[in-house]
Amino acid sequence: MKFEAIAVENIPLIHTGDNLPSIICKNLELQDRDIVIVASTVVAKAEGEIFRLEDITPGKIALEMASRNGKDARFIQAVLSRSREVLVEKPFMLVTTLAGHTCVNAGVDESNIEDGFLLYPPVNPDASASRLGQELEKLSGKKLSVIVTDTNGRAFKIGQTGAAIGIYKIKPVKHWIGEKDLFGKVLEVTEEAVADELAGAANLLMGEGAGGTPVVVIRGFDYYCGEKTFIKEMYRPEEMDVIKKGLRCLQK
Ligand code: GDP
Ligand code: MN
Ligand code: MN
Ligand code: MN
Repeated sequence: MKFEAIAVENIPLIHTGDNLPSIICKNLELQDRDIVIVASTVVAKAEGEIFRLEDITPGKIALEMASRNGKDARFIQAVLSRSREVLVEKPFMLVTTLAGHTCVNAGVDESNIEDGFLLYPPVNPDASASRLGQELEKLSGKKLSVIVTDTNGRAFKIGQTGAAIGIYKIKPVKHWIGEKDLFGKVLEVTEEAVADELAGAANLLMGEGAGGTPVVVIRGFDYYCGEKTFIKEMYRPEEMDVIKKGLRCLQK
């Protein structure tokens, strides 16, 4: 068994309105069942989610949080504008975004963008992945999956990894429940976060710095799914999320 990870070369600096699918197709001939993995940074740039820090006016809540955690109130306002819930305020802001993804700073990013600017995450990453996927399929004539990724930290462990935040035609979680192990025992709980694993593999070629490789194609890992899929399938239902419950208790 094997699969390939291919960084798409020659992608320029992306600006608002740029046509990512056409840039990708010009630089790599896609094949049926390729999984096209795109860093949210360039998706957000193409979608115009770029804001000047000095243009942001912090509201009352942002100013109060700033007095508690010492961060720039304008940055906090940016994070709040993309969050539905703040779970941790200090020493970093851990939030659930409007799209339901739980991460630090709502994915608002100051890296790989000019000084003085903030990059907000795509508002609806599934919709972004669908638009990219449909256009890539049209241009290439191939059946494709798409994953939009961001770099995320994890609870309990040092080190960030790539994580899926939006998907198109790929099942995000593989359910092993009911399958047998090597000794014929039936598995009762295991669910594999395939979309995050693929995002992590792609992130090895993306890196976090000046690499200039925001698009990676996974080829030969047969995981195409012909129907619409949703990233929220990966998000633990509220009533089962004991970590969030615990964090809410700590806030009180
Ligand atoms: P994030 O994980 O979505 O926040 O994206 P990163 O900021 O970690 O960047 C991932 C990769 O995309 C790195 O290789 C960056 O150098 C690259 N990258 C970011 N912006 C651009 C861009 O506008 N053009 C190109 N070609 N690469 C970019
Ligand atoms: Mn970044
Ligand atoms: Mn990021
Ligand atoms: Mn990254």
